[in-house]
Amino acid sequence: MALRPIRLLTLDLDDTLVDSDGTAVERIADAMRRARELLGAALDDASAERIRAAAVAADPVVEGRLATLVRLLPIAPEDERVAEIRAAYNARLLELLRAFPDMHETLRALRDRYRLVIITNGPEELQRSKVERFGLQDAVDDVVISGALGIHKPDPRIFWEACRRAGIDPAEAAHVGDAITTDVAGAQGAGMGAIWCRPERARALTEADLPVIPDLTIERFHELPSALA
Ligand SMILES: [Mg+2]
Repeated sequence: MALRPIRLLTLDLDDTLVDSDGTAVERIADAMRRARELLGAALDDASAERIRAAAVAADPVVEGRLATLVRLLPIAPEDERVAEIRAAYNARLLELLRAFPDMHETLRALRDRYRLVIITNGPEELQRSKVERFGLQDAVDDVVISGALGIHKPDPRIFWEACRRAGIDPAEAAHVGDAITTDVAGAQGAGMGAIWCRPERARALTEADLPVIPDLTIERFHELPSALA
């Protein structure tokens, strides 16, 4: 499929602009360390290692790494210690998080040609802190956070809200993201073009493995300006 001419590009944040996946191993280790402090003898070395490895290997979009860890631990979901494990998981996020290579240069090149709006799923405060950590609020025209709206990708209404705020019809917009379900299928369901920024974890997949076919596929965000040229 080919991309129609566009005036608006909407951008996923996690694992498209910034390497959230790259923080996983250390953050899961932090969470597991806290879990072992809280659970003591209820968790032996072998189980802890098995659960840690399963959490690291979990798909971050479909299953969630922290969700997998908590699900496998010998602890009830409503146990108040889960909040402490969650806090340990998030404690070093901003410190560990890195932008992908040439992110700002790429955004500047794209902004010469398109309106840019970030559309990100997650809690408002957490996602806002990532945006500000990298000065992204000044690098794009708008930021739409699902937690603030109560509407999450792939719901078409979050894509339409981004288009409405930019004053551009969805037919003249395309979304770029790493997740096939929330980003690619979501954007196409909203009547927008879909650019898949294929993550490392999906490099072995072919189009036959995908539930939807992106209009354009890139391997790294910095390839986008030339891919759209
Ligand atoms: Mg993402």
